[in-house]
Amino acid sequence: MGGRAVVVGGGIGGLAAAIGLRLIGWEVTVVERARVLADVGAGISLHANGLRALDALGVGEAVRAVARPQYTGGTRTPDGRWLARMDGAALERALGTPIVGIPRAALHRVLRAALPPECLLVGAEVSSVDRSHPTRVRVPLDGDALDADLVVAADGVGSRLRTQLFPRHPGPAYSGSTVLRAVTEHPVALRTDFELTWGKGAEFGHIAFADGRAEWHAVVNSPAGVRPADALAAMRRRFGGWHAPIPALLEATRPDAVLHHDIHELATPLPAFTAGRIALLGDAAHAMTPNLGQGACQALEDAATLAAALATEPTVPAALSRYDTERRPRSQSVARAARRAGRMGQQLTHPLAIAVRNTALRLAPSRATVQAVLRHGDWAPPRLPLAR
Ligand code: FAD
Repeated sequence: MGGRAVVVGGGIGGLAAAIGLRLIGWEVTVVERARVLADVGAGISLHANGLRALDALGVGEAVRAVARPQYTGGTRTPDGRWLARMDGAALERALGTPIVGIPRAALHRVLRAALPPECLLVGAEVSSVDRSHPTRVRVPLDGDALDADLVVAADGVGSRLRTQLFPRHPGPAYSGSTVLRAVTEHPVALRTDFELTWGKGAEFGHIAFADGRAEWHAVVNSPAGVRPADALAAMRRRFGGWHAPIPALLEATRPDAVLHHDIHELATPLPAFTAGRIALLGDAAHAMTPNLGQGACQALEDAATLAAALATEPTVPAALSRYDTERRPRSQSVARAARRAGRMGQQLTHPLAIAVRNTALRLAPSRATVQAVLRHGDWAPPRLPLAR
């Protein structure tokens, strides 16, 4: 079955969906409201499941070529003591790959390069879709419209299409934490590929990149909307006394490189990922807190699964029904696990609870850390029959 699809949103999820649809022979237009298609985020880590989905979409090698495998690292306390270490080589033996770290801009570039420029329509905002026709969906655009057999709503956590399709759903909820992050201006001497450090209601982490630079992120409990006048200065005040290399990472950052976002998630799970001929995908379907580094990986799983379902099922409704069955339970369970991880990790403030958690982590065997990653990372994509 081939057809015409409109993908709303040119983030990681939307671009991956478009790549998958083109691989199985569909015509695709990606409609993105930003005038320039570029991911502005800092860095991202990709687990085996995300990398396997990228392999299924034919871009895994191109992503690995610009990513850095994360062999060493783990979780620490602000004074530098290790709570748990991650053995990337053990993970590689179990899954065929360690986690990799990559600048978001580089991942976005690889995804964009896999699509012909003419299928990307930028500077166009979709506010709703017209579902009145039984076998087509119409996407109105500034006095014009695109007709499609399928619309993929990949318009992110604040999805307008989700609001249209599920008007009674409460929408995204504030997680209680806000995140500041940046990529360093120049390489920084780091002893590990990645680290997380947990203080009271706060986390500082880094991911090293292939070119020696690194992304750092600081997640703190905070009311929504609070913005320090000078974000970098606020980070230096709060984290400057934490262990090395945290002060050096902050020192290597330009003030205007710091991004600040409140973390929202779909705390109320959606009752379906599809409505008629529309599939919700990525954060639009299952925005989760970043505590497991799985949001984009789940979006990539969505993209590979959607393409496989459309390639093998006889009709769009049958394919979407399979997509919903295969994706909703898994992604919503990963989202629940991410929320729990945040509550037991970065968000914890009670000194006794922190002491109990830290002792449990110190006493756990190192294979427990690997097992925790395997729990969500060990996913294999469905076979993707490619168009001839
Ligand atoms: P988005 O990236 O939000 O893309 C949506 C796109 O749609 C945007 O380009 C937007 O401009 C466009 N759009 C929106 N509305 C419209 C409209 N009406 N019309 C047209 N276009 C529209 N995930 C991981 O796997 N690993 C990690 O290490 C990781 N770290 C994270 C760290 C932080 C601090 C955060 C916040 C998230 C992290 N994530 C991570 C999650 C990951 O970033 C997201 O899950 C992923 O980027 C979602 O991609 P998406 O394409 O679904 O949505």
